[in-house]
Amino acid sequence: QHTLAKTDPELWQAIEGENRRQEDHIELIASENYVSCAVLEAQGSQLTNKYAEGYPGKRYYGGCEFVDQAEQLAIDRLKKLFGADAANVQANSGSQANQAVLMAFAKPGDTIMGMSLAEGGHLTHGMPLNMSGKWFNVVAYGLNEKEEIDYPKMEALAREHKPRIIIAGASAYALRIDFERFARIAKEVGAIFWVDMAHYAGLIAAGFYPNPVPHADVVTSTTHKTLRGPRGGVILMKAEHEKALNSAIFPGLQGGPLMHVIAAKAVAFKEAATPEFRNYQEQVISNAQVMARVLTARGLRIVSGRTESHVFLLDLRAKNITGKDAEAVLGQAHITVNKNAIPNDPQKPFVTSGIRIGTPAMTTRGFTEIEAEQIAHLIADVLDAPNDEKVLAATRIKAGELCKRFPVYG
Ligand code: PLP
Repeated sequence: QHTLAKTDPELWQAIEGENRRQEDHIELIASENYVSCAVLEAQGSQLTNKYAEGYPGKRYYGGCEFVDQAEQLAIDRLKKLFGADAANVQANSGSQANQAVLMAFAKPGDTIMGMSLAEGGHLTHGMPLNMSGKWFNVVAYGLNEKEEIDYPKMEALAREHKPRIIIAGASAYALRIDFERFARIAKEVGAIFWVDMAHYAGLIAAGFYPNPVPHADVVTSTTHKTLRGPRGGVILMKAEHEKALNSAIFPGLQGGPLMHVIAAKAVAFKEAATPEFRNYQEQVISNAQVMARVLTARGLRIVSGRTESHVFLLDLRAKNITGKDAEAVLGQAHITVNKNAIPNDPQKPFVTSGIRIGTPAMTTRGFTEIEAEQIAHLIADVLDAPNDEKVLAATRIKAGELCKRFPVYG
């Protein structure tokens, strides 16, 4: 640390600023978390120096005996955590894991079916500007009038279009997904069933959200959200698909794997198998439910009416504020959220009528129901008076006090 401060003070300042921001802002971005010091240490290790194209025991470089151990630990722990036949831990990001699935199972022009981005899906599930949307013929399913996944409609679309791949998984969907039901229709129409569990992976590892692994041909995930590992991606798969998916990652999409990140993934997977992690995930859901309840009582609407996970969308229209403005004004009060489209949003995607709230990071720093309730009130206070400097200043102070009482890294 001190070396960096001396050799590159400008960069050091940026890092110090970000460290302070992480400590003294209430982090409610649903896709973020704070990793343990052990994960940070592994990611900062000399393993960053090593080239290791290939897979453990079958590398294209010499000197891989120790990184082989690290990668094998990550693979074995990940398989055990989710009960999978096989695992790939090399994907540099969630998006690259997803690209590998498309590469392994479809050709450009084939039909794929995923959840629409506007209703909660992810970019890589067929959004028109993403490779998944540009290279493939996309059929999108969405929500019903109760803002729950419209399963009958999804099934009808699958029967009509016979997609090569059916994707389940979301970035902004608060409820449990019925993976079994998706698997049944995929089998019926002869599609590969792919689940992207990125958002829910930690909850799944702890047993608080349905596990897609028994039902899906392939499951992808990021490792940095609820799972609380380093930034990166992974793939879990049935044994019969291992060769195709491993080849899609390397040599299909990537060269040398990030061995320091793989080591950090191994640490995170070990942590995710502990009773402490289970308690943490239970608290994550409990905190989200408390916040949703308080915000509802304060006159805001929760999309889908409730949450069964770490995340929910807040419909801001009752308060006459856009998602963009709410994000900015909450930021001034040191509460970090992101704007997010709500179903049938009248506003443009860069403006939106909603914000997304997630509890993984705030729960990691130790907030429980008591603080969750306080934070929900702070959010409502700001949304009730977004132009009132006094309210913003008071909220900033209260947010600061909460953060000080619950330091992240100390
Ligand atoms: N899949 C889902 C469901 C996501 O929410 C995300 C993250 O935003 C990704 C994939 C992409 O992950 P990454 O940002 O690591 O490419």
